[in-house]
Amino acid sequence: MNDFDRELSARLDTLKEQGLFRELRRVDSTQGTHLQVGDRRLLNFSSNDYLGLASHPVLREAAIQAVERYGAGSGAARLLCGSLAPHHELEAALAAFKGTAAALTFSNGYATALGAITALVGAGDVVVIDRLAHACLVDAARLSGAKLRVFAHNNLEDLERILQWADRRKSGTETGGPGRRARTLIVTESVFSMDGDQAPLREIVALKERHGAWLMVDEAHATGLFGEHRRGLAEALGVAERIEIQMGTLGKALGAAGGYVAGSRTLVDFLVNRARSFLFSTAPVPAQAAAARAAIELVRADAGARLRDRLWETARLAADALRTAGWAMPTTPGFIVPLMLGDESRAVEAARKLREQGLYLPAVRYPTVARGQARLRVTLTAAHTDADIDQLAAALAAAVPAAPDFRHAPTRPA
Ligand SMILES: *Cc1c(COP(=O)(O)O)cnc(C)c1O
Repeated sequence: MNDFDRELSARLDTLKEQGLFRELRRVDSTQGTHLQVGDRRLLNFSSNDYLGLASHPVLREAAIQAVERYGAGSGAARLLCGSLAPHHELEAALAAFKGTAAALTFSNGYATALGAITALVGAGDVVVIDRLAHACLVDAARLSGAKLRVFAHNNLEDLERILQWADRRKSGTETGGPGRRARTLIVTESVFSMDGDQAPLREIVALKERHGAWLMVDEAHATGLFGEHRRGLAEALGVAERIEIQMGTLGKALGAAGGYVAGSRTLVDFLVNRARSFLFSTAPVPAQAAAARAAIELVRADAGARLRDRLWETARLAADALRTAGWAMPTTPGFIVPLMLGDESRAVEAARKLREQGLYLPAVRYPTVARGQARLRVTLTAAHTDADIDQLAAALAAAVPAAPDFRHAPTRPA
């Protein structure tokens, strides 16, 4: 081993001692309720494919058609010559679905957050972010050069205190860079990825209006799932039109891949010019855009309503089964169910035992969640059957004693 590898190897040893070492597990099947892993077929409760669309025939066919018509690659960044028709069709479908004037798509949700936040704010501005917001939002805020302030998870008093501080700071110096005012951008998720709880968007919208701040809401785990038209939690709470920047991913409930921003035409024109992860990156392949568009059309139609209803039914069934098994469950069932174990090694051991029971349910631990907050994150999908949920409850009962007294105290992940 050379010096370079020796050094990295020592760092990996530290991760192993802390129960934080991770490995890829090769899957030899489509994404679905069952995964072929090595010589075993495992029942999967870890996917974000909430509506079971990832290997849906309609999405497959759309991807195949796009390959036939536009080829495999996209050639260049959108602004060079990669702005293929499927991207424009996807964006038109997205804007119609979200009920916004325009939409812009990116390679993935991570690139969306990075591009949008760094374009909108910079040195002299303030980003105020929920403590449990996704790593890509935190990374983007840091990269932007704006001052980063974190408010306690879903805590409106804490948010208001920080907004008041930002107002005082602004009235002292107009420090938004050459020729513009200093800005405050509030960033939160709508449904939180690792805990499944919801942001109080109505109250946050009221606060940002009172303080003249901008609001960006990441609907990664709500797009396609909440609201009359399944646009997201902002629709369900009646505040979508008052949010400046609505973002989300096309890789979760929509079953494909990609990220989006939906909002005004001016916002989209601005991001086309200023979002660096859009400007300096090859366009997603045509098949990706076509599959995502097919998913949007499907989710908007009655079929989407039926899948969404089935997802809520599996969530209710699972909540009942897990509560009976002794796990603490929230009063409103959700499709993201954290089974808190706390200790990292304990969570890894639980995941291993569940694999022996035929369940695929990896341990979620630092840095995805804070240290000491390790958990099994159960995700339900519309594709799970009632029998699958019985199997989940039976495997948990056999392998992992419930820890109903564990106090879930959200602290900031890395
Ligand atoms: C998954 C996720 C992202 C990233 O989206 P990708 O398309 O997977 O890159 C962004 N925000 C949240 C809240 C997420 O859960």
